[in-house]
Amino acid sequence: NREIHLNERPTGTPTHEHFKTVESEQPVPQEGEVLVKTLYVSVDPYMRGRMNNVKSYIEPFQLNEPIEGGAVAEVVESKSSDLEEGDIITGMLPWKEFAAVQADRVRKVDPSLGPVTTSLGILGMPGLTAYFGLTDIGTPKEGETIVVSGAAGAVGSTVVQIGKILGCRVVGIAGSDEKITYLKETLGVDEAINYKTENVYQALEAACPNGIDVYFDNVGGEISDAVYPQLNKFARIVQCGAISSYNVPNDKGPRMQTHLIKSSALMKGFTIGDYQDRFQEGFMQLAKWLKEGKLTYEETVTEGFENIPDAFFGLFEGANMGKQIVKVAEP
Ligand code: NDP
Repeated sequence: NREIHLNERPTGTPTHEHFKTVESEQPVPQEGEVLVKTLYVSVDPYMRGRMNNVKSYIEPFQLNEPIEGGAVAEVVESKSSDLEEGDIITGMLPWKEFAAVQADRVRKVDPSLGPVTTSLGILGMPGLTAYFGLTDIGTPKEGETIVVSGAAGAVGSTVVQIGKILGCRVVGIAGSDEKITYLKETLGVDEAINYKTENVYQALEAACPNGIDVYFDNVGGEISDAVYPQLNKFARIVQCGAISSYNVPNDKGPRMQTHLIKSSALMKGFTIGDYQDRFQEGFMQLAKWLKEGKLTYEETVTEGFENIPDAFFGLFEGANMGKQIVKVAEP
């Protein structure tokens, strides 16, 4: 039974030396627990923050302990009346091939709603983040212009589609021509900008003739510097993520204060946990749109337990389209 532990805390970009693979005994489930076989592991940008030993909204990973994160697994032995052998569950699970977990800390997946991997993406944490961030903080009105950074990722690709459902002009920013084509042709954005090959400020000016009313920010940094001066009066900034700075210790800037004043813009950060009481509502809405064909999603699937760290590193290089997951085993 393999496990992946945090071996060292990175200061900049994480590499293989920060992780280590450890062999362990097959766990034995105790009363109230289930033994699960990990099928799919989610790697997410926020996990970079948990590698640091700093106080945050979630506890740091412990050195020499398994990393934990979102995963889908199959129950292979149950010591709980709530779950039975063969059930597919999701929850925060350790990076282990087999794990014994408390049955009340995981949730059964309903396979009739879509492939079970959607519980890590569009019907899971990233989908809910897109839904609540955009509708509750962005509060877009029909006809308004929404700009989304990190637009081809798990959260961003859902945000742009919800923006279109709500009748807005949607402009996505992403880092490859393949992603630009995906945004335009599959997700139906009005304009898409490749920040690696285009002048983002000028491209935004051309793509947003009526200015920007909502900025859903997944990346921060220089892309955001190009957005702030073009915000309309009473614009809303949904500060969802800042991946451009996660591997940059003591990152300075951006300097956006004057732009917020002149646009009377509202900027609000959030973590998806803020919406815990409303998860069911968000989940039902996303599942409905998915069933009606109004939402679609992409997954980038890396194969093999040993490749979880590589899949994680890829998030910072833009290797993924849509949700990055790792397939560990067949059910
Ligand atoms: P993604 O699927 O979007 O993967 C990350 C993407 O970020 C990459 O594919 C890459 O795309 C882009 N990226 C990486 N480095 C940079 C950079 N230096 N500059 C610009 N873009 C970069 O991840 P998620 O959808 O899971 O998460 C998106 C953001 O939302 C993250 O910042 C994450 O931390 C945040 N988040 C926040 C939550 C909350 O509760 N507030 C919950 C979930 C996520 P490209 O090729 O376009 O560069």
